[in-house]
Amino acid sequence: MALEDLNFQIYGCKKCRLWQGAKHGVPGEGQLEAEVMIIGQNPGADEDETGRPFVGRAGKFLTKILAENGIKREDVFITNIVKHVSPENRKPYPDEVAACLPYLNTQISIIKPKIIVLLGETAKEASRIEGIKYVQIIHPSAAMRFTKMREKFTEQIKQLSSLINEMKT
Ligand code: URA
Repeated sequence: MALEDLNFQIYGCKKCRLWQGAKHGVPGEGQLEAEVMIIGQNPGADEDETGRPFVGRAGKFLTKILAENGIKREDVFITNIVKHVSPENRKPYPDEVAACLPYLNTQISIIKPKIIVLLGETAKEASRIEGIKYVQIIHPSAAMRFTKMREKFTEQIKQLSSLINEMKT
């Protein structure tokens, strides 16, 4: 399946209740050939407004820390485990995650990343696929709020950068 076809399915998705309170489905964006896929929880208000992932405060913070460590946002594919915003930004329910997972699985099968970066707890629900290296790190929203977490997050992104470079050699 082509990514554009999948995106259309996501824009029109009614497989769980979340579409009812959303302005846009947010499929994700980035390189079709990306070696790194970054997976967050679900879109927030800014993402719902624009239809693009990680464009709000947490997204800007993530983009900045990635860039400071030599990872260009344009080079990765960035998405979420759940493709619609949730009421009051609550954590998606398990049935919402389950309903949305096939989209992520299709994205993974199209893009075939070498590394998948899971941001925070909800992203841990992503399917594990043989041959892909999974890296679990702190969610940027938490990292922005607490100094200790910010330090740890920055260190984790630094390690991710080293891993990407190792995999290139
Ligand atoms: N937080 C997420 O997990 N995903 C987004 O797209 C934005 C904020």
